[in-house]
Amino acid sequence: MPQNLLDLDLDGLTAWFAELGEKPFRARQVFHWMHQAGVADFAQMTDIAKSLREKLQQQAMIVAPAIKYAHASADGTRKWLFDVGPSGGTAGDQAWRNGIETVFIPEDDRGTLCVSSQVGCALECTFCSTGRQGFNRNLTVAEIIGQLWVAQHSLKTAPNRTAPNHGAGEISERPVTNVVMMGMGEPLANFENVVTALGIMLDDHAYGLSRRRVTVSTSGLVPAMDRLAERCPVALAVSLHAPTDALRDQIVPINRKYPLRELMAACRRYLVHAPRDFITFEYVMLAGVNDQPEHARQLIELTRQVPCKFNLIPFNPFPDSGYDKPRAEAMRVFREILQDAGYVVTTRKTRGDDIDAACGQLAGKVADKSGRVMKRMHKEAA
Ligand code: SAH
Ligand code: SF4
Repeated sequence: MPQNLLDLDLDGLTAWFAELGEKPFRARQVFHWMHQAGVADFAQMTDIAKSLREKLQQQAMIVAPAIKYAHASADGTRKWLFDVGPSGGTAGDQAWRNGIETVFIPEDDRGTLCVSSQVGCALECTFCSTGRQGFNRNLTVAEIIGQLWVAQHSLKTAPNRTAPNHGAGEISERPVTNVVMMGMGEPLANFENVVTALGIMLDDHAYGLSRRRVTVSTSGLVPAMDRLAERCPVALAVSLHAPTDALRDQIVPINRKYPLRELMAACRRYLVHAPRDFITFEYVMLAGVNDQPEHARQLIELTRQVPCKFNLIPFNPFPDSGYDKPRAEAMRVFREILQDAGYVVTTRKTRGDDIDAACGQLAGKVADKSGRVMKRMHKEAA
């Protein structure tokens, strides 16, 4: 089986080239072609000796996950559904098991790519459609970095580009300026592959993103947070969702293993290494469950020792979820209590609604026998 070069960071590629008897600078050249020029065909790597190109053609490949579906939303949001498994042709719910999604959200001053880390998720948060569908497998490095590879290069070359123009009137050469590991899966449960992919995102020989512009979102795997601080301290978002263990045990079951006291301590330890001087706490607002004023007050108590910002996310409904979206008034009151206590609070706007790219909807569809994607989600107004 040829080696997929998208699975390797520069150190790995250099070692692989050494086995071929090739010098490190050759590995760097190929790395540039792959990640900076978006070239997958060795024949096009014109500054590389023909003999080496032929060797590579025999022993290597550059293969990103196959695009099954790509769509652009009216607000500029783009979405890709990737096929990462045998497309067995089974109908209905079986087919999603081999699908992951990636979403690009353009804004005036940045372009953010939301990347998946696993097919499904084992952590079973009760309000998450991915968690409801269970765990299939970890994504490989090539499948994780392949999402950025496809987005960066297809946004650059697409005829009706929706990338941010950074105010200069010209489309940026690198439309994706930020990555958030907030797609399908728990990134810290696929630790080694995610860390290798993060390294490629940060590498100046590849995408050259700064640590501040790459965010890992975790439901709170405490030991892995410490390892991330050591190995690759990027910006951190923690999915908090509840101010007490009693409530969090119910909606984020991993809390039973790593309760809030340990999670808060891990956040403080992470900040010693973090590229930003705050943790972002994500908080999905579930009507009548965790969106009351007393919850906001308890959050202030809980996070007193942790420099942080809050990102309030209105629940995105999916069929049979058992939860409702919060009322606008409840969101407002909740936000104001936190703001009055001095917290910076953002409220996530729902983007890409018309293509079901909004948060928590990433697993909410099935493909039928012909591979056509059928939408099951209700289109919710933000
Ligand atoms: N597994 C990681 C990252 C992926 S989920 C994590 O849990 O942090 C990204 C964010 O979307 C998390 O904060 C998650 O709690 C939130 N989310 C999941 N389902 C949602 C839903 N139905 N509505 C709104 N947000 C949701
Ligand atoms: Fe997994 Fe995150 Fe969904 Fe929880 S919210 S089930 S950790 S993807």
